[in-house]
Amino acid sequence: MKGKVWLVGAGPGDVGLMTLKGREVLSQAEVVVYDALVGDGVLGLIPEGAKRVYAGKRSGNHFLRQEETNRVLLEEALKGRRVVRLKGGDPFVFGRGGEELELLVQHGIPFEIVPGVTSAFAVPAYNGIPVTHRDFCSSVHIITGHRRADHSYDIDFDALVRTRGTLIFLMGIAALPDLMNGLLAAGMDPDMPAAVLERGTTSKQRRVSATVGTLERVCSERVIQTPAIIVVGKVCALADTFGWAEKRPLAGVRVLVTRPKELVSSLANMLREKGAEVLELPAIRTVPVKDMTAVDAAIESLAKGGYDWLVFTSPSGVSIFFDRLIALRDLRALGGVRLAAIGQGTQKALLKYGLRADFLPSVYDGETLGRELRASCAPGSRILIPRAAIGNHELIEELERGENLTVTDIATYDTEYAVTPDAEGLMADVDFAVFTSASTVRGFVAGTPGLDHSHVSAICIGRQTASEAQKRGMRTWISEKATLEALVETVEKAAREMKNNEE
Ligand code: SAH
Repeated sequence: MKGKVWLVGAGPGDVGLMTLKGREVLSQAEVVVYDALVGDGVLGLIPEGAKRVYAGKRSGNHFLRQEETNRVLLEEALKGRRVVRLKGGDPFVFGRGGEELELLVQHGIPFEIVPGVTSAFAVPAYNGIPVTHRDFCSSVHIITGHRRADHSYDIDFDALVRTRGTLIFLMGIAALPDLMNGLLAAGMDPDMPAAVLERGTTSKQRRVSATVGTLERVCSERVIQTPAIIVVGKVCALADTFGWAEKRPLAGVRVLVTRPKELVSSLANMLREKGAEVLELPAIRTVPVKDMTAVDAAIESLAKGGYDWLVFTSPSGVSIFFDRLIALRDLRALGGVRLAAIGQGTQKALLKYGLRADFLPSVYDGETLGRELRASCAPGSRILIPRAAIGNHELIEELERGENLTVTDIATYDTEYAVTPDAEGLMADVDFAVFTSASTVRGFVAGTPGLDHSHVSAICIGRQTASEAQKRGMRTWISEKATLEALVETVEKAAREMKNNEE
């Protein structure tokens, strides 16, 4: 059986700029061959079981030559696999997409192209530069600044100047002086606005504005970070008016979000809306315990009125318990049992089953839940707590101090830690890691062996999470309220402090 190859454009960096079709195809991939220009956020979408092959060209080591890349695509497809070739931007815009297809065509391997958002247009847009504008130009040109093997350029500067259009140079940073001189020699006005746009659509985006006459000097005064494009044309002057990305409250901030896989996205989206670049690292995964005997017995006892309180300490705890309850019986098994939830996220999970918590603690942590529930439940109450196998002790200790309270603590799920490939590389540019529970801190630490955790700046929900992070030497900020909104505000606060320190 022959496999198939999808040549997929990953967009310029921001994971939100990957197309829906690209995401869908990627989610089904068995092998993913990717470049250095593919954003880290997009790499985070590679399915867990998929084989990852790095075909980057930038780092110098561990890279594949073009022929090797072509061969990997062919070999994996011949094994019958679904192969995704992920390329930065659009695969057919200076992406050598055509070359990679030739061998596939020769061998009759089926393929599809999923176009992407090219950096040539998206990076100017993220800098407030419209690549065309009726008042300034009537064409836009994308040019490679790459030299031929004999070091000459394949660029007709006279023709470019004559078009009076916007010029966008890709792969042009090394050639910047030659490109500007070429334009000037062909008669371009030295006062023509020009800009270098670095690492566009990511948290490291930066713009250097000048003119064709001054761009080389202005750029020589600082280190230009690649990837970067050069834009030449009157439209560059609009960047100061239309620049928007840098004005967002979390612009320039890269945040790592670690939560159980099922929950990661809503927090990530809230941070993105504020302008942060977010990497999603589902550090922990929850799986129902293999042996459900104790859970089933508790459900049977519950159905016979054996408990007065049912206590949940996480959204996963709620869904795993109710999935089982509904598999065995139905919601009527709850009878008149009262419900307690540790916080709003857990409360929301209950609402999905049409249930409302009767009790929420004033501070969302295990100790407060235990202390306050003990104070408000009747003496002799029988309490069932279906939760993680590694749940925290303080909740139980507090409850057991109560008068005649019977506490049944049963493990409904185990927590598994996922190991992050290349954690060091990933963390190098991360400003903050967000943790929503002590177990995500433990999951992150277990999943990033070899990483120096004392360099991590951690934004934590609640004291317990923070103390777990501090134990690993992390610098911490605590969100007092255990809501996602409060957590996002804490990230904003920490980011402001970071920016003030830099100034
Ligand atoms: N197929 C890609 C381009 C590949 S050529 C696309 O459509 O975007 C590589 C060049 O793209 C880099 O040298 C740089 O000029 C540009 N580039 C890619 N991503 C970029 C980014 N995020 N910011 C600035 N330039 C980028």
